[in-house]
Amino acid sequence: MITGKFFRITICMFLSFFCIMKGDLYSASGVEDRIVCIDPGHQLHGDNTHEPIGPGATKTKPCVSPGTRGSISGPEHTVNLDVGLRLHGLLISEGVTVVMTRVTADVQLCNSERAAIANSAKADLFIRLHCNAGRSNSCFTLYPALTEGWTDDIYEESLKAAQIVQEAYSSYVGIPDAGLRPRSDISGFNWADVPTILPEMLYMQNTDHDTKAASPEFRQKMAEGLADGIIKYLKTLDSDTSPAMSIKSPSSPDVTLSPGTPPRSWEWKISTNGSRPKAWIPSLPAGRKTWKQPRIFARSI
Ligand SMILES: [Zn+2]
Repeated sequence: MITGKFFRITICMFLSFFCIMKGDLYSASGVEDRIVCIDPGHQLHGDNTHEPIGPGATKTKPCVSPGTRGSISGPEHTVNLDVGLRLHGLLISEGVTVVMTRVTADVQLCNSERAAIANSAKADLFIRLHCNAGRSNSCFTLYPALTEGWTDDIYEESLKAAQIVQEAYSSYVGIPDAGLRPRSDISGFNWADVPTILPEMLYMQNTDHDTKAASPEFRQKMAEGLADGIIKYLKTLDSDTSPAMSIKSPSSPDVTLSPGTPPRSWEWKISTNGSRPKAWIPSLPAGRKTWKQPRIFARSI
């Protein structure tokens, strides 16, 4: 009887403690309603099919490149995915909703399509995980250059997110901080309608970085550094001025297509609030007859 009472008291104390801790954790985080889209860069096979680098662009780039590789840690796409899945778990534990562009290696996802996934999710942050080719002992973060009609709506928030995440990541993992770099030629930036950053987390031909990238413990540390920065960024967002909310006109419905029935041409719609065109639907890249996996494209105007 005493044992049973003691047991019940212990359970009650444990549950109370757990609830308090859980309450503290979530109430303190302030990021429960936030959405993050994680794009582990590259995939098992690159796709040299070209796509426009932005809406209406004549300049094109390969749909998705194969990435680099470390002699110890292996292909970049596997390191990016493993860190991405670890980051996914960390953010979910903070109450953040997380959308992954991919969870396996063998996918077929152009960079514009990855941006489309983030757009469809109305992500508060679209983070694209990469490791760089080269031997430098540093890390840096790319963000969208200011391009009228493409990135002017996400430039400021992207830059702010890049600053916060780069600083947090670099200091946490102990890789020297090489700062931020704007880029105007990245398809995954120019097609994005949500704040977007691309950390080049390490250099795969740097032997020290390569050794670390092969270590599950260090990959976890990489994810923790990124999560630290992401949470800090999300906490800067005001609920009334969420960039994900601001791109959508309240009266306009989303354009949603059924999986497996993608359109075959670029489709443009003019914004209902009189600004530049914002709605688009990606085409099948030239030469491709079908998508290899179901997907939904949704845009709002
Ligand atoms: Zn890469």
